[in-house]
Amino acid sequence: MRILVTGGAGFIGSNLVDRLVEKKEEVFIVDDLSSGDERNINKNSKFFKCDISDKESLKKVFKEVKPEIIFHLAAQIDVRISTEEPERDAKINIIGTINILDLMKEVNSKKIIFSSSGGAIYGEVDKPVGENYEKNPESCYGISKYAGEYYIKFFSKNYGYDYTILRYGNVYGERQSVKGEAGVVAIFINRIIKNLECTLYGYGKMYRDYVYVQDIVEANILSLEKGKNKIYNVGTGKSKSVLEVFESIRKHFPSYSLEPKFEDKRKGEIVKSLLDSSLIRKDYNLDFTDFDEGIEKTVKYFKENLNNG
Ligand code: NAD
Repeated sequence: MRILVTGGAGFIGSNLVDRLVEKKEEVFIVDDLSSGDERNINKNSKFFKCDISDKESLKKVFKEVKPEIIFHLAAQIDVRISTEEPERDAKINIIGTINILDLMKEVNSKKIIFSSSGGAIYGEVDKPVGENYEKNPESCYGISKYAGEYYIKFFSKNYGYDYTILRYGNVYGERQSVKGEAGVVAIFINRIIKNLECTLYGYGKMYRDYVYVQDIVEANILSLEKGKNKIYNVGTGKSKSVLEVFESIRKHFPSYSLEPKFEDKRKGEIVKSLLDSSLIRKDYNLDFTDFDEGIEKTVKYFKENLNNG
């Protein structure tokens, strides 16, 4: 199949591309390398450096590639930037998504599989929440991701192509950037390797649904055949505090002795986010990697790739 992965040079996108290439699919990548890394690009895919909010450039790619399937991951993912520059966030996450949907029409693409966000859309919750739970995005990023979902549903209904929307928990794993503000697993591992102090916001008592990147990849791959016009949460349903995450990582570095610094949570950050993924577990027969096992694999990756980030 001719498959286009937007954001294929990024953390999740590049892991997905690797798996698609392994499956012998014909894979094309669109990425502007704003947060992605050229070194992540699979040699057996074809790469187009292109900004999805620039419709004319994107049109050239679509005309050449004529993708049957689009995995749409390219996005402005920084919550802080989305608050400071909501227009830039909307241009990439909303206009960029509309451009893709519009061009799918022109080349008769069959399906879009969209990376959305559970945490950003549901807002503060105190129990695992299902797909129909009230939406309460508390950032411009959350608003733009949710708007993207609606555009996808609208285009699907009116122009006939299929979609699957996957709402992720907090994804961690190989190739996560250590530069962002959200990837605490990558940030902690990087700082511990460099023998630097780690800061635990919310005094270590902020809770997230941490999900291993290979499980996210699996959910995307299964969406090639399953999940027609469905929306799924993709998280473990188990919460970990920032302190627990720090401790699970620290175990792998016996010589690291610095104590973490505890600080108040940053503006706009939610305290608890947790997803009920029973629907995708049932429909896809999907199981999730145990947190300690995922952390072990991630630590191993970063130890071997010290230059990352
Ligand atoms: P990432 O920053 O590593 O990947 C995003 C990719 O998109 C990067 O390679 C970046 O260069 C590219 N990109 C950004 N703006 C672009 C533009 N205008 N045109 C073309 N390419 C552009 O982030 P990620 O964590 O891999 O996230 C991938 C997707 O998953 C995003 O849509 C994000 O919203 C979603 N998501 C991620 C998480 C998480 O915990 N990492 C959670 C929920 C949802």
